[in-house]
Amino acid sequence: MTRERLYLFDTTLRDGAQTTGVDFSLEDKRQIAALLDRLGVDYVEGGYPGANPVDTKFFEHKPTKRARFAAFGMTKRPGRSVENDPGVAALLAADADAIVFVAKSWDYHVHVALGCTLEENLESIEASVRAALNAGREAMIDCEHFFDGYKANPDYALSCARTAYEAGARWIVLCDTNGGTLPDEVERIVGEVARVIPGDRLGIHAHNDTENAVANSLAALRAGARQIQGALNGLGERCGNANLISLIPTLFLKPELNERFETGVTGEALSEISKVSRTFDELLNRAPNRYAPYVGASAFATKAGIHASALAKDTRTYEHVRPESVGNTRAILVSDQAGKSNLVAQLAQLGVEVRADDPRLSFLLDEVKAKEAEGYAYEGADASFELLARRVLGGTPVFFEVEGFSVNVERKFNASGALVSASQAVVKIVIHGETLISAAEGNGPVNALDLALRKDLGVYQRYIEDLELLDYRVRVFQGGTDAVTRVLIEFGDSSGARWSTVGVSGNIIDASFQALVDAIVYKLIKSGAG
Ligand SMILES: [Zn+2]
Repeated sequence: MTRERLYLFDTTLRDGAQTTGVDFSLEDKRQIAALLDRLGVDYVEGGYPGANPVDTKFFEHKPTKRARFAAFGMTKRPGRSVENDPGVAALLAADADAIVFVAKSWDYHVHVALGCTLEENLESIEASVRAALNAGREAMIDCEHFFDGYKANPDYALSCARTAYEAGARWIVLCDTNGGTLPDEVERIVGEVARVIPGDRLGIHAHNDTENAVANSLAALRAGARQIQGALNGLGERCGNANLISLIPTLFLKPELNERFETGVTGEALSEISKVSRTFDELLNRAPNRYAPYVGASAFATKAGIHASALAKDTRTYEHVRPESVGNTRAILVSDQAGKSNLVAQLAQLGVEVRADDPRLSFLLDEVKAKEAEGYAYEGADASFELLARRVLGGTPVFFEVEGFSVNVERKFNASGALVSASQAVVKIVIHGETLISAAEGNGPVNALDLALRKDLGVYQRYIEDLELLDYRVRVFQGGTDAVTRVLIEFGDSSGARWSTVGVSGNIIDASFQALVDAIVYKLIKSGAG
């Protein structure tokens, strides 16, 4: 059976850029466009050319290879010709494949916001679409406030859509601009529009103000629309747009949708989608939502012992799709609720075989609970957990002992009069009775400590040459009566392996040092040192 083509339109760089607290640089925009291009969306909307210098520059060269690149702007202003409209001129000057015109489709807005007649608004729609087509571009119309407009005056809302369609617009996008429409209304209204305009020319632009943006997009799809708009991680004005990171796996992995519809996203690209989501969060400098469907750290995590033991028998028992299909991993959480079956399953995943009736397990469980009470969190620190388990179960060689360290942070004026801060660290370790002292300078105290610790590890030095610090995260929280600092560090090596370690202390440097030492010991074990 041939499947119908469904088009995905990303508006992260336009609507997503309206998110409170989000501000993309030119380089950010280029990176995001490349990310979307690799993911396989059909359209990347770049923003408004001419709105500011960054966007104007961004539109000088099309940033995508595969995806169609779209410029966004208003339909021509009423009362002037399309040739004399500077906004339309900026759109036509952009290096873009498609032009998206936003048009009023609610009669009330035409009167209040545009101050023109309903007929003049239709003329603007028609002239703008034709101007884009004459310039050799694909034309789209975003019918703003379509659903509210349709409820107020269905004939006028429809005539806006029909005018664009008859003028030759490739897509007529029905926008739930205020985000208040519910799925059953979206399905009914899109179904009515699809009797006038073919569904393969209709798009849906849903906002998440009732947490229904994804559901509304799927409702529009059921009613016939064949273009879905959305943004990475659901970014967008107010509560956001439909989340493409949730929609794409649903479209691909749910048989009733996959059997009917085909998108430009391949199974291979889908298996990178967790990474895409996290890379995007990294770029925004915000913590990934661990509860995000499909891609969050908790999406395939289970805590209760009874679930973990069922999972160990058959993963389908508690998972609606396979975590590997979206590049996520199954996490069996070690937590203060952990039962022994959790521990056994977690250890098996790490390659540590231990029987459920092994008496050392109770001891390990107590140890984990005691550490978690201190503030350690092993859910994000697999390597530290493995080390703890190996220490308790026996079988971790002592590679080196740390006799002490010191860190010095200095803020001073340099020779040219600029205020600089410099950090030096000295680390004293003992390896097989031999004392080694290393000093290093770094751009911060943790960097200096890391460099000093890794500078000379004697006989083990060759095993840690390819270590690379990938991520460093700090959380300060209230533990008992004092503030406690938890540091999570992620390291990687040339084999592509990545592992995370944790350190906890009232002192951030001390917490960091614990995590650094764990990371190195883990690497030594992994490399078969000693
Ligand atoms: Zn919007």
